[in-house]
Amino acid sequence: MSIDTIKTDILIVGAGPSGCMLANTLIEAGKDVLLIDKHNFPRHKPCAGGLTPKTVNLLPFNINHLKQHDSEKMLFKFTNGKTVDLNHIEGACKMVVREDFDNYFFDYVTSKGAKYLNNKIISVDDLNNKINVKTNKQDINCNFLIGADGANSTVRRLTTNLNFKNPVFAFEGLIDKKACKANIPTKFVFNKLGYGWVFPKNDHYNIGIGNLVYDPSQPKPKKKDLFKFAQEELGTDEIRDITGFPIGTEGLDYIPSSKKIYLVGDAAGLAETLLGEGIYNAVVSAKYLGDAIVSSATHDEVFNKYTNFLVGMKKELSLYNRGSKILYKKQRLSYWMLKLFFGKKFMDGYSEGKTLSEIIKGKYPFPSI
Ligand SMILES: Cc1cc2nc3c(=O)[nH]c(=O)nc-3n(C[C@H](O)[C@H](O)[C@H](O)COP(=O)(O)OP(=O)(O)OC[C@H]3O[C@@H](n4cnc5c(N)ncnc54)[C@H](O)[C@@H]3O)c2cc1C
Repeated sequence: MSIDTIKTDILIVGAGPSGCMLANTLIEAGKDVLLIDKHNFPRHKPCAGGLTPKTVNLLPFNINHLKQHDSEKMLFKFTNGKTVDLNHIEGACKMVVREDFDNYFFDYVTSKGAKYLNNKIISVDDLNNKINVKTNKQDINCNFLIGADGANSTVRRLTTNLNFKNPVFAFEGLIDKKACKANIPTKFVFNKLGYGWVFPKNDHYNIGIGNLVYDPSQPKPKKKDLFKFAQEELGTDEIRDITGFPIGTEGLDYIPSSKKIYLVGDAAGLAETLLGEGIYNAVVSAKYLGDAIVSSATHDEVFNKYTNFLVGMKKELSLYNRGSKILYKKQRLSYWMLKLFFGKKFMDGYSEGKTLSEIIKGKYPFPSI
């Protein structure tokens, strides 16, 4: 072992919401945790910054100081130009600026005792007793390696055969409110592959466009589509800070490759394909894995508990996939479904902090640990 080798019980690669949620669960139970991230914080992550109430309920801290808007009113526009307008006093989405949210979460867990290194993972050796991880700075020796490193996960690439069969990609940018004539509520404008969005914040709108359905016969969204979308919806194309990133949605195929190596959040492909919400599944998967590690005596037990959670997660993801196929491919039907009965049910359910299974089947999708 080289003198530059660090030892830790649990190594988490990636300090986004999934990595920080996992670190928090483990630190609270007194575990030895090392977080590494290729970026120092604060850092930008392409994201619209919409947190559903079920996400907010799961977080270990109150987000009131980070919240910039409550989506009490939501507008859904279909390809035929028709709109459905939904309201709930609690708001179905709490709007934050993602950079601020991630930075707060990062400070929260590091101040509680999670160790942090600004390192980039390069290779993984899964040995009999230990895992050896090479980074650009030191080697790290650990009992558990967790990939929380997002949609382009290096841990996934180094340790599994999980591929992108449904490449989902989104662009986002910011428009200052003073450049717009009208005050716009939270807005979703559907197209054949996904949607464009307008998410209000204090002094700006986060706007974006992305595909959620993969259809090789249709052109994928491009930056110029974002300018066109902004002009149509906000009457300006003065967009700043445009960035794009994939969303990890391959979770139906994810099976842990080792009893010592696990993926959470976008690295495991757990974002959903109906509206592209990924932060809830990132934090709920991390919480379950953390609880599994804390409550288990052996690697076998952790594996059984986390794979049991993944069974529920895959059912949930399948439900979103079915919804997505109807929403984007049968827009006339989904317009009427949303207008006549599903719209209120969804708006109420999301605002009350429910998962999709709870809204549709009245049942929480995940097992108890
Ligand atoms: C444009 C856009 C808009 C979105 N809007 C929303 C939204 O409004 N609401 C919502 O719920 N979801 C949204 N999502 C999805 C959401 O951003 C993701 O699901 C969520 O960020 C996943 O969290 P995570 O912790 O798993 O990964 P990430 O947030 O991607 O964090 C991964 C971390 O790993 C680090 N990392 C990556 N590679 C390495 C490496 N090799 N070595 C070390 N560190 C590494 C990264 O620097 C990063 O800090 C959006 C996605 C996009 C692209």
